[in-house]
Amino acid sequence: SDTAGGAGHPDGQTGGRKGGQADGVQLLPVALRLLALMRRRRGLLWLSVLCGTLAAILSLSPYLAIAYVLVNAVSASADWSAILLAGLAGMAGVLAEKLLFGLSTYLSHRVAFATQRDLRYELAGKLARVPLGFTDSRSKGEIRNTMVDEIEVLEDGMAHLVPEVSAAVIAPLITLAVMLLIDWQLAVLMILPMAVGMWMMGRMMKDAEEPTRDYLEIQSRMATTSAEMADGIATVRAFNQDEQASHRAGRIFAQMRDLSNEWLERAIIPGTAAQVLLTSHLMLLGSAGLIMTAAGWVDLGVFAAFLAVAYGFGDLFAAIQGISHRLFRQHELLERLDMLRDVPELSRGTKAPALADASITFEEVGFAYGAREVLSSVSFHLPEGRCLALVGPSGSGKTTVARLIGRFQDADKGTIRIGGQDVRELDPEELHRHLAYVFQDVFLFDGTVADNIRLGRAGASMEEVEAAARAARAHEFIESLPEGYETRLGERGLGLSGGERQRISIARAILKDAPVLLLDEATAFADPENEALIQDAVAGLARGRTVIVIAHRLHTIANVDEILVLDEGRIVERGSHADLVAAGGLFASMWDAYESVRSFRHAAG
Ligand code: ADP
Ligand code: MG
Repeated sequence: SDTAGGAGHPDGQTGGRKGGQADGVQLLPVALRLLALMRRRRGLLWLSVLCGTLAAILSLSPYLAIAYVLVNAVSASADWSAILLAGLAGMAGVLAEKLLFGLSTYLSHRVAFATQRDLRYELAGKLARVPLGFTDSRSKGEIRNTMVDEIEVLEDGMAHLVPEVSAAVIAPLITLAVMLLIDWQLAVLMILPMAVGMWMMGRMMKDAEEPTRDYLEIQSRMATTSAEMADGIATVRAFNQDEQASHRAGRIFAQMRDLSNEWLERAIIPGTAAQVLLTSHLMLLGSAGLIMTAAGWVDLGVFAAFLAVAYGFGDLFAAIQGISHRLFRQHELLERLDMLRDVPELSRGTKAPALADASITFEEVGFAYGAREVLSSVSFHLPEGRCLALVGPSGSGKTTVARLIGRFQDADKGTIRIGGQDVRELDPEELHRHLAYVFQDVFLFDGTVADNIRLGRAGASMEEVEAAARAARAHEFIESLPEGYETRLGERGLGLSGGERQRISIARAILKDAPVLLLDEATAFADPENEALIQDAVAGLARGRTVIVIAHRLHTIANVDEILVLDEGRIVERGSHADLVAAGGLFASMWDAYESVRSFRHAAG
């Protein structure tokens, strides 16, 4: 609690993970958690532990050899061949230690790399299974930061844990035992200042806990800001916000600097003091031990041997320091990793979908984003092979209806059925085999045009891809691209117009050939010329399928079987186009407004 609200925090706006967290970091549980992450490869890990332990034991051999040499060399009846042998054994020990340490490091790196891959794979799968609202509300930079950078640091921790812990824990314990056996008084004299030094190091780390947490938060925000500066550059420039944006980034960079300075100031004095204490045993031994020897309390040979062993002990403390520093950082990273791993996933249904048909039914469906109600008691039945249109003001919940069918989120109330089966009981992969989406905002992947269309069906032949593109009225513009179907679209296909992207998306859906088609404002981005093309493509695609179309160009849905009018998440009107226009309600007024804009456009030519 001595760190809570500590002096001089960089303005305290570091993301609200404060309070009640000042209990010290326990390094052992952190080490155990890192080990647990690697448990799938425990065979190799044990081998690494074994090599590391043997290396740690062998690391003492030169010091023990020197001690043996010293103890025996000063005695009158020195056995020189035994002394020579001890020297050679010490050298052999060093060689074996280095080899075994290398092997241990190699093995633990292999395990860590494999675990790193597992974690990334797990998180990627996780992102595919969490409700869509989660990734909407979380910044992309933050997720990227965890998946790329933070897991990288965790990997480093995992790779070094076993060899270093073996060196840092096992060897000192053996040394301590040897020293206590030789002379317990000298041993205590040597250990005491070290213990104080260790304690100080521990306190220092505890003090650094909160700055480290803030540091990681700010690091994550830096990732977000940098990503935004790259992605949002057009908007930023259009609104003349360049300077403000770089100021905002500059403030975060400055926070980072201040935090680093703060950390440095907290650490420098106790850190130096601890360093002095951790090395003071040599001086203490040198002076006090010499006096004890002179006074005849300790044998000169023993004293010399002690100095040699104590020298080795110092190295090992450096290792402890290194490993605890690393573990301390891992603690924060594990917490951040858990935040992502713990996001609740959508339940995975198991039923193989023996779907009777492709009909879609909503029964009193309700959905909310947090406290914000987005849909309430939405009910409809769409028989197989029919077409339903959703219209309504922007924000009325149309896209949400389409998303719920594919279980991008789960309805909070009511039931959604496809072919009579609750979508929550279906295996999501199977469910998506029955659905083809044309989304409002088309996402194109970094890859060729053909790859992007093939998303509809992996392994489709080039002929099939081209046929789909033709049906989507996309073939012509694709052919005019520099390398046709093999043109790389680059990140998110930013080189294409909205209408072109839309038609690629329609080609995907055509290739997928699913019984249910969900079209979210497919003509929204199109200019009049493109609109006719897209309209054409959509009509071809819709034939013979069960279709839900979300439209704001109302003439495009004049012939659908039923129109639902949504307003603030409720169905306010339903019926055929003619019925709704005649009813004189919301739809009729939308139609009037729409018609006048359209005739104006026609008149303007
Ligand atoms: P429409 O498609 O009719 O324009 P949507 O279904 O996209 O409407 O959105 C319905 C409501 O849900 C809107 O008020 C929108 O702001 C809100 N909404 C959409 N996505 C999220 C989200 N990830 N988090 C919170 N609110 C959201
Ligand atoms: Mg929408």
